[in-house]
Amino acid sequence: MASSDHHGSIEGDDRTALIVGSGCTGLALAQGLKKAGIKCIVFEKQPSHSPARARDWNMGLHWGAPILQSLVPPSLWSRLDSATVDPHVPTAEANTLHFLNGATGEAMASIPTGKFYRLRRSKLRALLADGLDIRYGHRLADLAYDPDGNTVVAKFDNASPVRGRIVVGADGARSTVRRLLLGDDAAAASSRLPYAATFVHARYPRETALRIRAHHELYIASAHPGNKFAFLGMQDAALPSSPESWTFFGYVSYPLSLAEQDATAHLTNAQHLAHLRRLAADFADPFGTAFAALPADSPVWRVPMTSWDPGAAGHEWDSRGGRATLAGDAAHAMTYQRGQGLNHSLTDAGELCRAIRTFVAASADVEGASAPSSFFSLACPASSSSSSSPSSSSSSPSSAASAPSALASLIAPSPARQPLRSPQRDAIAAYEAEMVARGGEEVRLSITNTTMLHDWAKVMASPVMTKGMRTSTSPATTADEYAEGAAEADGEARRGGSARRDVT
Ligand SMILES: Cc1cc2nc3c(=O)[nH]c(=O)nc-3n(C[C@H](O)[C@H](O)[C@H](O)COP(=O)(O)OP(=O)(O)OC[C@H]3O[C@@H](n4cnc5c(N)ncnc54)[C@H](O)[C@@H]3O)c2cc1C
Repeated sequence: MASSDHHGSIEGDDRTALIVGSGCTGLALAQGLKKAGIKCIVFEKQPSHSPARARDWNMGLHWGAPILQSLVPPSLWSRLDSATVDPHVPTAEANTLHFLNGATGEAMASIPTGKFYRLRRSKLRALLADGLDIRYGHRLADLAYDPDGNTVVAKFDNASPVRGRIVVGADGARSTVRRLLLGDDAAAASSRLPYAATFVHARYPRETALRIRAHHELYIASAHPGNKFAFLGMQDAALPSSPESWTFFGYVSYPLSLAEQDATAHLTNAQHLAHLRRLAADFADPFGTAFAALPADSPVWRVPMTSWDPGAAGHEWDSRGGRATLAGDAAHAMTYQRGQGLNHSLTDAGELCRAIRTFVAASADVEGASAPSSFFSLACPASSSSSSSPSSSSSSPSSAASAPSALASLIAPSPARQPLRSPQRDAIAAYEAEMVARGGEEVRLSITNTTMLHDWAKVMASPVMTKGMRTSTSPATTADEYAEGAAEADGEARRGGSARRDVT
């Protein structure tokens, strides 16, 4: 699909959305755009979705589930349980996250979580990649904005550039797109926090595996009076009758000053393992047993905690008329002990998908034509009877005839064409306003939560204990409810308003 317009002969055009990053955010957005008939390409710097020695973890999907469901085809949604840590344990309609006192093993709190899909990141990504145009081995290096105001060109370290109508930075907590947008390494860099977590994957002999899992089928958490926090759960239980084949995932998190982080940045696997055993030595079961019995070859890694608050002073970016924006961890990197990052990331995907559909439809209206391209003709299934559909085009030939130049310019933009991108600018601005308020609030709450969970005197007052997994927004409870809200907002936006879900 090389274009040979005035921009030169490079792949892409002003009907393509470019998504940088094939994490869950980028893939969910791509699924939503594909479902809406909007052409998009995902670029991923890794050579595949599961490169050798890639770190993997699992995540709780709860209030964001209806949004994901609204983005993907039913055939994909019906396979979601296959991406859970144990596909043999169907996701219950309601669940509870149990917190133990790490020192005594006594129950501290039981937090209702509603329906709670415990998903392996690698498996979820593999599922969400289904049917998408993903270019692996594409590391974004730079962005260039065409002077006509209509398109953006993504440049890669090791591949040819590609042009699109919008570029979305879904490239994670250390986002390159964020750095390019803010133009200032200091503002774009994540804030370092004085906490770290040491993670491990482990398999155990049959009896040990059964003893650990007897505490909870899927996951369990613990706060320790020594200002530490631990999480333990299944990572992969593909063979129910073979406990020695199960992989467990666990971590202990703890305060660690930035100076200590720097001084110990290059520890070996064996040193991290020894440190983890020491950290966990005074934990009661199941944590005590699980960490003491770690096999010597267990993969261990430490990640200092960071965050990036899109609402902080100096963090505003210029979307270049709606041609570039951020989503997911790239937009709001947060600590994970309240289990919100994925849920917000998928919300971004849902809201951004809606914003793109809105400006695509509005652009078609503004231009007064029904473009025959897949971008415009399929962009808004919810409004397929509108003037943007091919059928309405054929039924009202005069409207197409009355705007031949606009139609032609959509297909082959000319240098003389004035940007008609205010619907795009406005839709992306509305998306960013909601996302920054919602995501920024959660970034700050997550820092508070992490701080309190590592301060025994404050653990019971921490947000995860008092608010559980709930968000401050009013999330939709079903995919239909979410889609209806989106359709209402689409209509409002097309009438010039700015309907949006409230952040309370
Ligand atoms: C231990 C742990 C537990 C968690 N638990 C939960 C939970 O229970 N509930 C919850 O909601 N959230 C949880 N989270 C948070 C959740 O994992 C993240 O919020 C979510 O995965 C973010 O996805 P993303 O797609 O935005 O970013 P990522 O998954 O980081 O994906 C970014 C992608 O962009 C690619 N990329 C980066 N730079 C470039 C470039 N220059 N060019 C091309 N590609 C690039 C990367 O290779 C990567 O594939 C947890 C996180 C951790 C670490």
